[in-house]
Amino acid sequence: MLIDTHCHLAAVDFATDRDEVAAAAGAAGVRVIVVPAVDVASFAEVRDCCARYPDCAPAYGIHPLFVRHARQADLAALSDWLQRSMAGPDRPVAVGEIGLDLFVSDPAFDRQEEFFVEQLKIARETELPVLLHVRRSVDQVLKHLRRIRVKGGIAHAFNGSRQQADEFIKLGFKLGFGGAMTYAGSTRIRRLAASLPLDSIVLETDAPDMPPAWLAGGRNTPDQLLRISEVLADLRDIDADVLASATTANALAVLPHCERVSL
Ligand code: ZN
Repeated sequence: MLIDTHCHLAAVDFATDRDEVAAAAGAAGVRVIVVPAVDVASFAEVRDCCARYPDCAPAYGIHPLFVRHARQADLAALSDWLQRSMAGPDRPVAVGEIGLDLFVSDPAFDRQEEFFVEQLKIARETELPVLLHVRRSVDQVLKHLRRIRVKGGIAHAFNGSRQQADEFIKLGFKLGFGGAMTYAGSTRIRRLAASLPLDSIVLETDAPDMPPAWLAGGRNTPDQLLRISEVLADLRDIDADVLASATTANALAVLPHCERVSL
């Protein structure tokens, strides 16, 4: 059994074949798919996706690259949405996807920080873990996590240093690895994936983005998690079953509400 801790299955990229994509993931042994929202407009799509596929678990948040189009009122809308869904069958497993992105020099970075901080506070109030988007912004993200202590979570698509990884681990986070480590040229990520403590790693596809090497340039799908997990098992020179059960346990430790989905 595998858990895809980050997959945008509600995205329009899957509009025509979402049933088949979800079925293929199940057939590949992916028993839980965590589906993060990116903005308020996507909340209902994520909820509906998770209602349709029992293996899917929702997360709600405002992605740093969507902050530009977000309104201040969206933060209250997020808080309300989480409070409302907390008691229902579509109970969120995390606040996400939230974070900071300095990949493209963003003149609105102050606004990204403001939305990130406010969403960390919402996560703290609701006692939910967070799914973090951290691109060229590891130290900035860590700075805020030290000030606003949340219930841990996942640094998705981790691409920092070993020292930065250790800082996340100290704060109760797991590091997400996926398609990037399947490229022979990704030496730093591969070295990290091979050498971090096994109990600090979770798997993800980030589908439809971050296609693995064998799908380079194409659309990624959650069933690819099986082959991605085999690449990581090879890198670490351990049995694929051992890797699968360890990463699943790690995901459940940091996203405990996934338990109801996986049972
Ligand atoms: Zn994402």
